[in-house]
Amino acid sequence: MPAYDYRCRTCDARFEVRRGVDEPEVPVDCPKGHGSTTRVFTPVAVGGGASAPAPSGGGCCGGGCCG
Ligand SMILES: [Zn+2]
Repeated sequence: MPAYDYRCRTCDARFEVRRGVDEPEVPVDCPKGHGSTTRVFTPVAVGGGASAPAPSGGGCCGGGCCG
């Protein structure tokens, strides 16, 4: 069963909850009892070596601010 990371909006605590794959969007309570939590998406290192493509051009010109 996968584990998901959540963060409490009230006390900023981060905690991990194991739950079914269909349930990550179901709200969970903070271990301290706060009900306002948000899921934290953590990058999972999967064997494959796929890395994000490096931005080409560089600088601010890539964003259209120069042109
Ligand atoms: Zn909390």
